[in-house]
Amino acid sequence: MKWSVLVPEKLDEVALELIRNDKDFELINLEDSSVDKLKDAITNCDALIVRSKTQVNKELIDAGKKLQIIGRAGVGTDNIDLAYAEKKGILVVNAPEESLDSVADLTIGLILTLCRKLHVAFERTRNGNFHRKDLLGYELRGMTIGLIGCGRIGRKVAKRAQAFGLKVIAYDPYISPKLLESEGIELISFNNLLKSADIISLHLPLNENTYHMISTSEFARMKKGVYFINTSRAEIVDTPALIAALEEGRLAGVGLDVVEEESKENPLLKYSNVVISPHIGASTYGAQRNVGLIIVQEVMNVLRGHPPRYPVNFPKLPSEARELYIPFRDLLTNLASILISLTETSFNKITIRYPENLPRPLLSILTRTFLSVFLRTIVSGDEINVINSQKIAEERGIQIIESITSDKSFQNVIEAKIQMNGEVLNAITGQITADQKLIVTKINQYDIKFETTGHLFLIEFLDRPGMIGAICSFLGENSINIAELQVARLLHLGTQLMALKVDDPVKPEVVAKLRKLKDINWVQYYPKFA
Ligand code: NAD
Repeated sequence: MKWSVLVPEKLDEVALELIRNDKDFELINLEDSSVDKLKDAITNCDALIVRSKTQVNKELIDAGKKLQIIGRAGVGTDNIDLAYAEKKGILVVNAPEESLDSVADLTIGLILTLCRKLHVAFERTRNGNFHRKDLLGYELRGMTIGLIGCGRIGRKVAKRAQAFGLKVIAYDPYISPKLLESEGIELISFNNLLKSADIISLHLPLNENTYHMISTSEFARMKKGVYFINTSRAEIVDTPALIAALEEGRLAGVGLDVVEEESKENPLLKYSNVVISPHIGASTYGAQRNVGLIIVQEVMNVLRGHPPRYPVNFPKLPSEARELYIPFRDLLTNLASILISLTETSFNKITIRYPENLPRPLLSILTRTFLSVFLRTIVSGDEINVINSQKIAEERGIQIIESITSDKSFQNVIEAKIQMNGEVLNAITGQITADQKLIVTKINQYDIKFETTGHLFLIEFLDRPGMIGAICSFLGENSINIAELQVARLLHLGTQLMALKVDDPVKPEVVAKLRKLKDINWVQYYPKFA
């Protein structure tokens, strides 16, 4: 069985070759296809990789009956119905980091253009005019650049700016001052940045806090003669306020890769000290190639069962958490399978207790993993998986609580509890041992230790003489060889729990017969743990 990947747009050839040359994958590469053709082609595909042209709407998602992942070769996902993909449990990934250097390069390009009046100079010489008297510019060395937002692109701009001899200051309330300090960037207040920078460059995201964040009062606080650059998002700047600042002569030059109005009518076009590029920050051959390669590798890795690096509709897994993810995912999957088999009545709360040593962003992913297994047997209809499990649980009115304990004995231990109106229905605790074994250490009140491997029985029975013998004889009579056996007892309840592993799969009719043995409360059989 091969995974089919549909690429309905132009993607770098080197990236496509990666799919073609892998025996586990089949590439369906279509360009300029009609919507109907696309819907047809996607029917049996496991993955879809698009750039910005293909409209990945409900219709197309529904047509992808086997679709597991949508890759966006680039950053923006405006052309993908993310909410619907999430609802259907389809992972959306993008390649957000591959164009960062290109945007940083362009930022420096805009700064150099303005400081050296290159746009005027080029236009003039094209007309055969070599007059240069009014083209005196500024050298960058010694100037101060103020970065508003100092994340991935901001820091790349800083590095380049430092090479030009610029002093770099930044305003970013959410970044670690230590990190910036180690890179020679001085973190200062918003007001001080506005007042002291010779060049101001925006590198922050657009959201409700940053919409029109640079407006009349901010321009008024800038130094007279400042250069103003925006390669981030147009709506962060209030355009009428920018025009007023230009009219007032406060700004020596403005360089924009993003504008609120992409048309001939844009009033900014008439200013000779304003240069505008048509949103080409990421438009380089290098960025396009990397974006293609990264998204193809990401899609192939995810289909092979690895965690996503750049998920859009799923919490991002930090690099330090990647190694931990797989064993904890497997432990939670096993705990969830056992716990759901014991839960026969309705519940409205699930509590998962994590050890303090797990990175916080991992918790949400692990909780979703748990829910996806736990709810699978209860939820009908839509497939449930790690993408949509939390949403489905919330829709069903199930409260999910993640708690963290600093208890030393809780290292690499996870406890999950199911409750109804405050009463605990069932609980299970599991652990990853030093040699990476996945074990259960407690089920409800039973302190019972067993590894979650192989063909496993859990059997609760009355604590009376002959019961263990009766169960073992029954299995022997049915030619079932016992591999391992552990028992725990609850004296106050007069019951025992047995965890019993057998060598081979057991037929359902034998399990049914075992359930009928005298004084057995319940039997659960797990055909095969990983
Ligand atoms: P990033 O998330 O790595 O960094 C953004 C930084 O902004 C973060 O450090 C964050 O703490 C900071 N920030 C958030 N809110 C802030 C606020 N109110 N004030 C100050 N700082 C704030 O993002 P990035 O990849 O560096 O991208 C930066 C911008 O560049 C984004 O707007 C992105 O859309 C844009 N971008 C443009 C192009 C292009 O073609 N021109 C291409 C890629 C990205």
